[in-house]
Amino acid sequence: MSIYTCFGCGRETKGHVMCDDCIKAAKFRKSSYCGNSGCVEVLIGPFEVTVRNTKDKTWGAWQVYTYDEWAAFIAGAKNGEFDLPERAT
Ligand SMILES: [Zn+2]
Repeated sequence: MSIYTCFGCGRETKGHVMCDDCIKAAKFRKSSYCGNSGCVEVLIGPFEVTVRNTKDKTWGAWQVYTYDEWAAFIAGAKNGEFDLPERAT
């Protein structure tokens, strides 16, 4: 089992990039546009940004990004680079 530095509190933690205490205290946020069918949830940590799906909150499904990576993604999203194709209604 790998040793990590918890990105919530900086303590050493085993197996995960965040310790159990910080996982419990983590306040993920989701978009105000989210419906009931699932959504992207985001946790802005002190060093990194964690993303998960409301439908699968298990650790293996979490993705962790650096601030630089997340900032680049958000800038692209605001620029319309990830917009969906038009859907027939
Ligand atoms: Zn911690």
